[in-house]
Amino acid sequence: MTLLNPYLSRNFLWLRGNLHTHTTVSDGVASPEEVIAAYEQKGYDFLAISDHDAFVPPGDYQALTKMTLIPADEVSRHGPHILAVQIREVVPPDADRQKVIDVTNAQGGFAILNHPNWQKHFNHFPQELMEQLTGYVGIEIYNGVIERLEGSALATDRWDRLLSSGRRVWGYAHDDSHRPGDLARGWNVVQAADRSVNAICDALRHGRFYASTGVTITRIEVRDHTLFIAAPNAQRIRFLGAWGKEFRYVDANEAEYKVTGDEGGYVRVECFGAGVQAAWTQPFYFEG
Ligand SMILES: [Zn+2]
Ligand SMILES: [Zn+2]
Repeated sequence: MTLLNPYLSRNFLWLRGNLHTHTTVSDGVASPEEVIAAYEQKGYDFLAISDHDAFVPPGDYQALTKMTLIPADEVSRHGPHILAVQIREVVPPDADRQKVIDVTNAQGGFAILNHPNWQKHFNHFPQELMEQLTGYVGIEIYNGVIERLEGSALATDRWDRLLSSGRRVWGYAHDDSHRPGDLARGWNVVQAADRSVNAICDALRHGRFYASTGVTITRIEVRDHTLFIAAPNAQRIRFLGAWGKEFRYVDANEAEYKVTGDEGGYVRVECFGAGVQAAWTQPFYFEG
């Protein structure tokens, strides 16, 4: 058995960013200029403005900020929401969500299925549809705005169902910010060669990132079949396999785990800190 490790061990920058942001261009309360300034003030390295069915060209705003602006929009009308990232123009909200993903990919972009557990039945994105669709890179496993809406912000349950059925999809954490109070609830930290759009998006497409609501991971390494994790502000580190079953936990800010192959196709790691702070690594898939 080989363990597929998406992470790099050297020659990279850790860069922090949010891909899901609304402004007055759709239903956000702040202008793109105000939103960009607010994220920059919080120390972000990259940001995508992803208004509902509207494209805000990064080129119009890049001169205002040191952050790398990533082109995106949130395909919203006529079905469950899909984040279209690294696109060139707005992706039409076709009711056939497979077409939305295909058009996103044809533009050179990548698609993320948004907030599956939003709304009172925890079913904004039906699992059956997530299982039918192909060509998307991942799902939102944390969506910050749901902290004040109906449903569950967390969707690692949906992720484990997909992963356990053999799908290989990454897990993303986003604010989905509409108001100032929504900022900096969930973000992704990528391992990128540099600060360019291409380097950041390459990491986001290929799982070279972890998702976080406050815990910082400083080491993600695999040697033979052993995983090494360090997260300075974590209090518990958990190693999970298929269906989200826990195989080991350690109450410390460093931990290791020897993968046996009995975990069911993949292992992933969750780190918990104070309060609701957490971080999620991407899955390490088994091959052979
Ligand atoms: Zn949405
Ligand atoms: Zn949104």
